[in-house]
Amino acid sequence: MLIFSPITIRSVNPQPLPYLSFSHSISLPLPLTSLPTPSKSPHFPSFHINCIDAAQPFDYESHLKNRYIQSTSLKIAIIGFGNFGQFLSKTFLRHHTVLAHSRTNYADLANHLGVSFYADPHDLFEQHPDVVLLSTSILSTETLLQKLPFQRLRRNTLFVDVLSVKEFPRNLFLKYLPPDFDILCTHPMFGPESGKTSWAGLPFVYDKVRIGDEESRIKRCDNFLDIFEKEGCRMVEMSCMEHDKYAAGSQFVTHTMGRVLEKFGLESSPINTKGYETLLNLVENTKGDSFDLYYGLFMYNQNALEQLERLDMAFESIKKDLFGRLHQVYRKQLFGDNNGEVEKKRSLAQQLLGNGSLTEPPLDNVRQDGS
Ligand code: NAP
Repeated sequence: MLIFSPITIRSVNPQPLPYLSFSHSISLPLPLTSLPTPSKSPHFPSFHINCIDAAQPFDYESHLKNRYIQSTSLKIAIIGFGNFGQFLSKTFLRHHTVLAHSRTNYADLANHLGVSFYADPHDLFEQHPDVVLLSTSILSTETLLQKLPFQRLRRNTLFVDVLSVKEFPRNLFLKYLPPDFDILCTHPMFGPESGKTSWAGLPFVYDKVRIGDEESRIKRCDNFLDIFEKEGCRMVEMSCMEHDKYAAGSQFVTHTMGRVLEKFGLESSPINTKGYETLLNLVENTKGDSFDLYYGLFMYNQNALEQLERLDMAFESIKKDLFGRLHQVYRKQLFGDNNGEVEKKRSLAQQLLGNGSLTEPPLDNVRQDGS
């Protein structure tokens, strides 16, 4: 059945038009016996009818769209509304409802973003979120999990974590969460700095540790993953164990080098090369992260210590290569030089090679100082 809403007559066109034209691409040849004919013209008047698409009760298309949005929209509760939790919430809010709880009271900030903040986790859980997302520091995870009032949640809530180590939260979830809860361990491998403008192409690692067979539970997990997929993330499904192995060799080393260079005191110069710019960017990317996060990468990834030792050995080996060459240069000079100078140079080489570092001022400097 076709129902017409109130008609707006825009203008009377002097040209003969044999039918009415509707803006909703409906054109019908209608007899216009009941329409006014102000000038008794033999011409048909032209009417432009404005159909307000979304406002019509018969608009099946927009009904379907709304129903689809409602069925895919999630109520996501973020626990740990610090740096990373806030960053994620801004994207979640585009299609989902976001609630939050944190140790610190972020009520004003959350309100500003459009997030409902609950100072008490009991109140938060009574809202029955579909997804509870843990974005707390790695170090505080276990203490926090022991205190959460799971009994207030729906029986098969989906628990997600975004911790930068994966085996550790996986084991804690399996240990502390009720058996009916679904578990999805994830690591968005970017942060507020590297994902500032877009998430396109950035890796998102996930492991469906425990997702129930029911269609609704599978769909809920997929809807959550869709957030990252739709942002263009590179979706990588892998076990938590594999993640930690790769992450220690890449992410932990990256953070370590960033911190070493920050302590070293890199400064921009007027003649920055591209390589140097990369180092400056590395420092910029890592210095925003808390030391808790870095320490968590080290403490709760069993592969991290080995990587730190390998880094140390690599640095020592490079120093040995450099000083080894220096040693050869001095050996060559040894045979063509006079005895006094040779002695001084050999002693310098020995100092440099002794423990790989300069322990006393070089002889040249000593001579210049006159001592
Ligand atoms: P973070 O220092 O690792 O964690 C800060 C968060 O932990 C804050 O929400 C803080 O709550 C909470 N927290 C710290 N100690 C707590 C305690 N004793 N009890 C309860 N809550 C505590 O910094 P972050 O950057 O926000 O990272 C959050 C999580 O996301 C971490 O697990 C990290 O590994 C992961 N992640 C971070 C990034 C990144 O680029 N930053 C990227 C991927 C994954 P309050 O603010 O209320 O004190």
